[in-house]
Amino acid sequence: MPYRLRYLFIAISLSLVSISIAFDLAKPQPAKTGCIEIIEVGKSISGKPIELCHVGGSHIGSKNSMLVIGSVHGNEPAGIEVVEELIELGAGDNTDLWVIRNGNPDGSNLGTRQNFNGVDLNRNFPTNWLPSVVGAKTYSGTNPASEPETQSLMRAIDLVKPKILITIHQPYGLVDCSQGADQNLDERLALLTGLPATCIPGEMADSPTNTYTGTISQWVNGRYPESTALALELEAEVPTQKITQYAIALKQLPVE
Ligand SMILES: [Zn+2]
Repeated sequence: MPYRLRYLFIAISLSLVSISIAFDLAKPQPAKTGCIEIIEVGKSISGKPIELCHVGGSHIGSKNSMLVIGSVHGNEPAGIEVVEELIELGAGDNTDLWVIRNGNPDGSNLGTRQNFNGVDLNRNFPTNWLPSVVGAKTYSGTNPASEPETQSLMRAIDLVKPKILITIHQPYGLVDCSQGADQNLDERLALLTGLPATCIPGEMADSPTNTYTGTISQWVNGRYPESTALALELEAEVPTQKITQYAIALKQLPVE
């Protein structure tokens, strides 16, 4: 091959290589391990993203769809570990599994139950909302759904419309009683986790919102009559072995 042609050939080859590298860089980056899709549903007050992760499954609104929220109270971190384990396990057969690792990232950073505004997000949802005193443990915010984290979680739920919503808490070590469409869901989850199914005891002292008002479960059970929302209360201390056990239980819940 004449020199000139050879140089032309090399130049063309190099351009093709760089074009293909450029295309590779332009491709969407792979999702975090275990999530086939990640949707940012909003941000916390300090600007941290609240991400909805689609672990796997068929399609939105399918019969066995479930959304698990690892944490809404910043001082109850065990549920985040359970959700991370659940992401690794993947969705069960014929189920559509979605998770939010952390619905209150600012509270987690601060180590507080409430968000950055001192609001208990699980009293801020717009069903049975009651006003309460600023500074109370269960301060419900200035208005129903006043907080960006509450709005983010509502957005995620309206997007997925899960038949089952599980929000993980600590420290009571029980499965809260079922108030939604499936009256047996609590018993099934109790069987799978080994935790007792019983209604969470209300704390009446100090604030009217120490009883259960404006909770995420009340909002979902009222808005989606075919769905069932439950609080899963883990123990105060959860050993690694139990984290795995709870993740396996949640994976199995929609297929039971
Ligand atoms: Zn809690």
